[in-house]
Amino acid sequence: MSDVAIAVDLGGTNIRAALVTVGGEIKHHRTVRTAVRGGVYAIVDQIVNLAESVFDEHGSRLTAGVGVVAPGPLEPKSGIVRFAPNLPGWENVPLARLIQDRLEIPVVLGNDGNCAALGESMFGAGRDVDNLIYLALGTGLGAGIIHHGSLIEGVAGVGGEVGHVSIDPNGSRCTCGAVGCMEAYIGGWAIARHGEMAVHSERSSLIQEIAGDDRITAEVVARAAEQGDGVARDIFARGALALAVGVGGLVNVFNPELIVIGGGLARAGDLIIEPFRSSLPNYTMLPIYEHVTIVQSALGHDTGIYGAAANVFYQRPDRTGHRELDG
Ligand code: ADP
Ligand code: MG
Ligand code: ZN
Repeated sequence: MSDVAIAVDLGGTNIRAALVTVGGEIKHHRTVRTAVRGGVYAIVDQIVNLAESVFDEHGSRLTAGVGVVAPGPLEPKSGIVRFAPNLPGWENVPLARLIQDRLEIPVVLGNDGNCAALGESMFGAGRDVDNLIYLALGTGLGAGIIHHGSLIEGVAGVGGEVGHVSIDPNGSRCTCGAVGCMEAYIGGWAIARHGEMAVHSERSSLIQEIAGDDRITAEVVARAAEQGDGVARDIFARGALALAVGVGGLVNVFNPELIVIGGGLARAGDLIIEPFRSSLPNYTMLPIYEHVTIVQSALGHDTGIYGAAANVFYQRPDRTGHRELDG
């Protein structure tokens, strides 16, 4: 079987595509601005054109397949995007089939968190371990769990939603409709919302000062915290605590060797990582906690591309390159 995959990372801002080798080399990388307003077919065109141009440069159409990572709730098994928060008009789009019909090459669709976990396990921080929890601190809280080398997916392939594990029966309403999810404390949208609330209730002037006339984002709240704003620091401390409570429960269940932290919000660094690290022992059993190491993602901006490719290799019958089946 071919040991290269075409990887596509479909985001609300950019679409990126590249060829990825089983050894983790990225080649023929290209990026276009997502034609958000063009609707489904314009975006399918963009993906097909990007893939074709990668094939051209590679000089062959022989690959293990095309992996697509897309945002929003999606069904990996049927290849359908249920909806995509940042792509207006997307509802029940059979994305894998639409691309596959055009390219005449198998397409696998994956959830960003689950694929990122596969990517870290195959190419990144998790290369030497079989049990890890990956946390994508982004706009939401994406995640994926690898247990004995297998991705936790469940019956419909939509499992592993660590960010929507509830930690508070009386907590705030999450974007998913449930109550008290970890994401409602530590997702980028939640940090931003808590920052706005602090400004409206006049508890923080620094957050407003840093935002100026722009929207209050998680990044703004992080900068206020870094400059010593107590309210902003508390927002992160509470988020990190929520993460420790929820992830602590999962650590007890899965006994992982590694927790990998990635995503744009992780750039807040020790505003989150330090309190998370120091709180985690309070929410785990010692004989289980002892095995856990916490690290930052090794893949950074290429997480989506690596994840899409890792998903292609992972879905293959021989799981080429995935460690548990080497040798
Ligand atoms: P997504 O994949 O969900 O689009 P990203 O992983 O790109 O999200 O992360 C976006 C989030 O990261 C936003 O909430 C943004 O405010 C936040 N962010 C970006 N840069 C920083 C930073 N330097 N410090 C803290 N938060 C940041
Ligand atoms: Mg992302
Ligand atoms: Zn939720």
